[in-house]
Amino acid sequence: MRTSQFLLATQKEAPSDAELISHKLMIRAGFIRKLSSGLYTWMPLGMRVLNKVSDVVRFEMDKVGAQQVCMPTIQPAELWQESGRWDLYGPMMLRIHDRNNREFCYGPTHEEVITDIMRKELNSYKQLPQTFYQVQTKFRDEIRPRFGVMRSREFLMKDAYSFHASAECLDNTYQDIKGAYNAIFTRLGLDFRVVLADSGEIGGDNSEEFHVLANSGEDTLVISSNGEYAANIERATSYLDNSHVCDAPKQEKQKVSTPDIRSVPAQAEYMGLDIKQIVKTIIVEGKDTDAVALLVRGDHEINPLKAEKLPAVKSPLTMVSEEILKKVTQCEPGFCGPLGLDIPIIADHTVLQMSDFSCGANETDFHFKGVNWNRDCKLPEAADLRFVVEGDRCPSSQGTLSFTRGVEVGHIFQLGTKYSDSMNATVLNDAGKTQPMFMGCYGIGVTRIVAAAIEQHHDEKGICLPEVMAPFQVAIVVLNPKKDEAVGSKAEALYQSLSDKGISVLLDDRKERPGVMFAEMDLIGIPHRIVISARGLADNQVEYKHRSDEEAQMFSYDQIEAELGSRLS
Ligand code: ATP
Ligand code: MG
Repeated sequence: MRTSQFLLATQKEAPSDAELISHKLMIRAGFIRKLSSGLYTWMPLGMRVLNKVSDVVRFEMDKVGAQQVCMPTIQPAELWQESGRWDLYGPMMLRIHDRNNREFCYGPTHEEVITDIMRKELNSYKQLPQTFYQVQTKFRDEIRPRFGVMRSREFLMKDAYSFHASAECLDNTYQDIKGAYNAIFTRLGLDFRVVLADSGEIGGDNSEEFHVLANSGEDTLVISSNGEYAANIERATSYLDNSHVCDAPKQEKQKVSTPDIRSVPAQAEYMGLDIKQIVKTIIVEGKDTDAVALLVRGDHEINPLKAEKLPAVKSPLTMVSEEILKKVTQCEPGFCGPLGLDIPIIADHTVLQMSDFSCGANETDFHFKGVNWNRDCKLPEAADLRFVVEGDRCPSSQGTLSFTRGVEVGHIFQLGTKYSDSMNATVLNDAGKTQPMFMGCYGIGVTRIVAAAIEQHHDEKGICLPEVMAPFQVAIVVLNPKKDEAVGSKAEALYQSLSDKGISVLLDDRKERPGVMFAEMDLIGIPHRIVISARGLADNQVEYKHRSDEEAQMFSYDQIEAELGSRLS
C-alpha cells in the first residue's frame, strides 16, 4: 500500500470526549471515526488491525474444531419469548418492528438463535459434541457508551456455542476453548488474566472471564497472593470463617442520642468509634416478604449479586420504599438496626464475629452502642453478602487478596441445559430416550481487543501494537525522491520484493517533511521503519529503526531484506 493512495486520516488533536488513551490514539491514528453515540466506523487502517485480530481468533477456533457460521443480526421476538429472556433483557436490547408489525430485536447475543437452529439439525447423541462460532456484529443499547470501541453500542463479537450429550463432555470442550482463548491472547501479545466470573444475563453455572490488565479497566480483579485464586470482584469470595466466635461482651448496651446522624462515617465520627465497630443495616425487598434486613460491617459494602442469590431476597436486589422501611423499622432511614426487627435478618459472616458493636436503634435520631449477639439480639442467619476488600484472606485461607484492574475481552460459560430446557432442544441418547442437550457459550470482544491492546501498547509517540496486530509490518519512508532518481526506484524495488514475500508494507511516498512522515509512522505504530534517502544511497545505505528503538542503524541496501527477515516475527 502507498500512502499516496491510502486514507491515513491521522489527526493532531483527540476529541474532547475521549478519556482513555486508546480512544484518543485510535481517533488520532485514523483507526476509527464516531458516527453517533456508541457507533463507530472502522477506517482503512483500523480495519487492517481488526482483521488481524479476527484472523488470530478464527485460526485458534478452527484449531479446536469449531465450525464457522454466520447467523442473522436481526432475531424474531418469539425465540426470546420462548427462552424467557424477552422481558428479562431490558432496555439493553434494541427492539424493532417489521412492515407487518412483527417484533424483532437486533441481536445482543445469539443463544436463542443457535439453539433454535441446532434443535432442528441435531437429533442424536451420535452427532455430538459440536461447536459453532461466528464473528459478527452485536448491538447492545448500553446506558453509558464510552471509551470509543471499548464500550460501544455496536461491536464485533466472536461468539461460539457448543452442544453435548453430557455435562462431562461440555466440560471437556469448555477446557479446549479455554485453551484456545489462552492461545489467542498469548499470540496477540497481551498481558491477561483468567478470573472466575458471574454469569449475569446469560445464565448457567460455571463461568470465567479473560481480562487484559490495564489501570483504566472498568473491572476490579481480585488476585490471591499465592496465585491460586483470581476472580472478578462481582463474584470474589474470601475465606469464610463460619465459627462465628466473638469476644465476650465488655460493655453494656447503651442508647445514644445521634440527632440527624444518618451515615456510617458520620455515626463513627459522632460516636468516636472505629467504622469496623459499626453494623450497617440495609432493608431490601424479600422474595416472599415485604422486607429483609441485610447486615454488613461498617467498612464493608453489600455485593448485590451475592445478596440477590439468597432464597429469601428478591432478585434483582431492590431497596424497600421509604414507606415500607418506616413500617418495618418504625424509624427514618439511617437509624435502622437488627434489634427488635420482625423481619428476616441475614448477616455477613464477619458481622457475627463482632462484639460491643454499634447499630441503629430503630428510633429516629438514636443509635445503640455496646451491643452483643445472643445477649442483646438473637444470632441471625449468616451468609456471604459483601464485596471482598484488599487484605482479606483467600478462600482457601492461605494468603491474602489484592486488587488489580482489567478490561474484559473474553467470557466463557457452561450453560448446562438452561436454553435446551426452555426451548426444548433435545436429542435421543444411547438408550433411545429424549434428553436435553448440554450447552456452552463463549464470547470474545473482537473490537474491544484492539482498544485494550492499545491501552497496554502505546508510548508518548503513539500506538505500538505487537507485530501480529500492527496495521502494517514495515514502513518504507522515501525522502526527497526528486534529488536522486535512484531513491524512488530503489524504494519501489524493495517495496515490491517485500510485498511479494507476503510482508505487509506501507510505502510512504508523500512529499512531506521527514519529521512529519516519521511522526505519523510512529503514531500509527508500524513496527519496522526503513528510510531511503539520497544521502544514504550515496553509500548504498538505508536506515532501519524498530518502533521501540531509540536510535536508527544503517545497513547496506543489499542487506536490508535479510536484516529485516531476521527481525520480523
Ligand atoms: P461487560 O461486562 O463489559 O458489559 P458483558 O459481560 O456484558 O460485558 P458478554 O455478554 O460476556 O459481555 O460478551 C462477550 C464479550 O463481548 C465481552 O467479554 C466483551 O469483550 C465484549 N463486549 C460486551 N459488551 C461490549 C460493548 N458494549 N462494547 C464492546 N465490547 C463488548
Ligand atoms: Mg461478560
